[in-house]
Amino acid sequence: MHELSLLENVREILESHALSQNFSKVTQVTLEIGKLSCVEPDALRFGFDVVMKDSLADGAELIISELNGLGVCRQCGQHCVIETLYDPCNWCGSSKVDVVQGLDMKIKDLMVI
Ligand SMILES: [Zn+2]
Repeated sequence: MHELSLLENVREILESHALSQNFSKVTQVTLEIGKLSCVEPDALRFGFDVVMKDSLADGAELIISELNGLGVCRQCGQHCVIETLYDPCNWCGSSKVDVVQGLDMKIKDLMVI
């Protein structure tokens, strides 16, 4: 389950932010997950408490915000919402779509003390 290693990354980022921005506890974490990132929100929720235990985010609330996949068509230049990496352009049907949004997971917001 790669969600656990993603969460370990998140914890490391929180720890380095805590040092540079001078906070000692995180009470809420908002993660933004691209729908094309292959990250399972349920697996994140399940792993979050385990990975954050005994860290500065122990007991923090997890909020997950999903971000639609977005592509730009090379044929007609339109932006299109895509559900998978192989979706065709929904304007002209071309399969040459460059993904511009929705591939990764990032920390969107933090509440800290
Ligand atoms: Zn198109």
